[in-house]
Amino acid sequence: MITKENSFESYIWDEKKETMSEDERRELVGKRLKNQVKYMYNNLPYYREKLDAIGLEPGDVKGIKDITKLPFLDKTAFTENYPFGTFAVPREKMERIHASSGTTGKKKVVGFTHNDVKLWQEMLCRCFAMAGFKKGDAVHISYGYGLFTGGLGPHYACEMYGATAIPVSTGNTAGQIQILQEWQPNAICCTPTYMLHIIDTMEKMGVDPSTLALRTGLFGAEPWTVEMKKQIEDRLGIRAFDVYGLTEVLGPGVGCSCECGDLIHINSDHFWPEIVDPETGKPLPDGELGELVFSSVTKEGVPMLRYNTHDLTRIYHTKCACGRTTPRIEKITGRADDMMIIRGVNVFPTQIESVILKHKEVNPHYMIFIDRVNNIDQVVIKVEINPANFSDTMKSLEKVEKSIEAELVSVTGIHPKIQLVESGSLPRSEGKLKRVVDSRFK
Ligand code: ADP
Ligand code: ZN
Repeated sequence: MITKENSFESYIWDEKKETMSEDERRELVGKRLKNQVKYMYNNLPYYREKLDAIGLEPGDVKGIKDITKLPFLDKTAFTENYPFGTFAVPREKMERIHASSGTTGKKKVVGFTHNDVKLWQEMLCRCFAMAGFKKGDAVHISYGYGLFTGGLGPHYACEMYGATAIPVSTGNTAGQIQILQEWQPNAICCTPTYMLHIIDTMEKMGVDPSTLALRTGLFGAEPWTVEMKKQIEDRLGIRAFDVYGLTEVLGPGVGCSCECGDLIHINSDHFWPEIVDPETGKPLPDGELGELVFSSVTKEGVPMLRYNTHDLTRIYHTKCACGRTTPRIEKITGRADDMMIIRGVNVFPTQIESVILKHKEVNPHYMIFIDRVNNIDQVVIKVEINPANFSDTMKSLEKVEKSIEAELVSVTGIHPKIQLVESGSLPRSEGKLKRVVDSRFK
């Protein structure tokens, strides 16, 4: 039940750019791409070497159709040129430096020029408008402040948008709830798992969500499912939107879901998306699952062309009822790195989440433990009991375990063991949550 539905209204921040025809956009991005290739060739020795190695001259790229001539980049561009070798302008000209949270290895360091910071603000203003933020809204930001892009990104976007930023950052959940109650922010930005933790804590403290002024929220930085979105919306009585991005390309604001559903509009006039086959690197047509690749055609500080995010999704260029013409991607299934191979079967934590969250008898908190016993992969998934919806007998415990197990077999093809554990016993995260413990290769 969404209680504040009546007051929800979204709009398009930049009508001209967000609703131009696909042909117009291809033309525009083609020009930007052509300039960006030259700019990178002239200012980035590592990139010049890459193009020289395959005998590609910057002049060979004349428009968007030539994008496939360019080589792919990935995180090695950052690790091999650490820390500042990917900077296309001198460090002195950077207005700010951020770095990825390093979920998978060494930090990727990204410098932003003044124009890059402006671009970032603008992209997030598009997302704010999409998510129904209003001018004058107070925005509670509980992403971590610091090198991580989640905090300062939306913070500076509030300035451009004409909203009031409340830089709460992470931690002290009870204190966060006090601010939500007493300062009455209208919108919130944090990871979806942290939002759930705040909601759990609110329920424990007996705080009634209808006493808050929260109307909408932007959640992202980690994969999450539509089932989790529904929980956040129903339990808190707000609207929840999916904001996507990565530090190497921009930070949050590369794209966002709109009021029409769960697909994420990509700001493709600045971040041109391609979906490619993970094996061959060949571009895939709409609707096929592959790796998401971005070309940041207007970034000055650290531009990236054909940067492979290894995030897996599908893209659609169909018209959206909201009026935006930008292409849309499906919710990210996970990174190629997140994929678990269990007895040869490929599974993503998000597939498991979509099953678990359908069961009312358990909390939306789970951890996946993988081990190899006698050379056979074993998966144990610990899930918390939801005491409110659970009759406490051994029999019902077993029944719930068995029914989740059976559904997981049919959805994922693997045979995990479900272990119900006490409510509140699994770790919570204030930022990105690590859900998988794989002990097979230790
Ligand atoms: P790190 O690479 O250290 O995790 P980032 O904060 O730059 O640092 O993380 C970007 C990554 O986070 C994306 O490539 C993607 O895997 C994930 N991510 C970001 N937003 C979303 C989202 N809305 N849905 C799913 N995954 C997301
Ligand atoms: Zn839309």
